[in-house]
Amino acid sequence: MSKKYHARSLMDFLGELSTEAVCEQYLMQMRWPDGMPCLQCGSKEFYPRLKHRRAYKCKACGFFNRPTAGTIFHKTLTSLHQWFVALFLIANDKRGLSALTLSKHLGVSYQTAWAMLQRVRHAMAKRNDQYQLIGYVEMDEMYIGAPTEGKKRGRGTEQTPVLVAVSFVPGSDGKEYIGFAKLKTLTVVKATPIVNFAKRHVQKDTVIRTDGLSVYPPLERHGFVHDRNPVKKRKAHLVLPHVHTYISNLRSFVMGTHHGLDETHLQQYLDEFCYRFNRRRCEEEMFDRLLLACLEKEETGKYPILNTQCIIA
Ligand SMILES: [Zn+2]
Repeated sequence: MSKKYHARSLMDFLGELSTEAVCEQYLMQMRWPDGMPCLQCGSKEFYPRLKHRRAYKCKACGFFNRPTAGTIFHKTLTSLHQWFVALFLIANDKRGLSALTLSKHLGVSYQTAWAMLQRVRHAMAKRNDQYQLIGYVEMDEMYIGAPTEGKKRGRGTEQTPVLVAVSFVPGSDGKEYIGFAKLKTLTVVKATPIVNFAKRHVQKDTVIRTDGLSVYPPLERHGFVHDRNPVKKRKAHLVLPHVHTYISNLRSFVMGTHHGLDETHLQQYLDEFCYRFNRRRCEEEMFDRLLLACLEKEETGKYPILNTQCIIA
């Protein structure tokens, strides 16, 4: 392939990836552009594919190689074609596709669609984790979930705190341009989890702009440049404009698409939102990008386990 990612319309997709066999060939080409190597001996010579197994027998050592081995597609009864259609729909619905809608489009049960979405979000999260924010970052916390009695919101309530970090680039015109984002649910807003988050997701020496909350200054002791801006709460959007724009978009996603989120799986929804946001300039290539993310090798047992009873072909 001359280009890793391809822009593709729905009509292109339906014409190009129309059968199980074509999807499998496409998957193999994406995963191994230079040809699939035998997992056992490295040879690239195989007998023709077995009829009812997603497997190719190696001509050199006889090992049965499965193109989906180690990916989120492995050991599911869902066909690759259904997976591909699901990925296309997920890739192209930036409001976030619900399990109910996906189940109707694919003709599978709600549980199957939900489990598929969870696996895809897991792949998105893994891809998110491969990148660190760099340069200039704004960091703040937001709260998601039903407010506690008395309608009190924010710090000090039982809503789930979410740490939001958004990078930005100062332009030569004096303006600042928003870059990439990271989101992490916290059990508690304290210095330790915030520092741990920064160490994992933000490069050292990055300038981190925050408000005046006392949990942020320890960042300075861990290799970050802390830009502290004490403000009255109502003015926070003025000193942290990028993170607040981002939070406002996230709130629309949470309320609009999912009508408030199931907090048990909040991090997965955030992972999806983050993944989409960070690729907002290459939406047409999202199918290929998502497919590649889903093809990343999983450590055994690391991905969400599907209940096979939920899976229908
Ligand atoms: Zn072999």
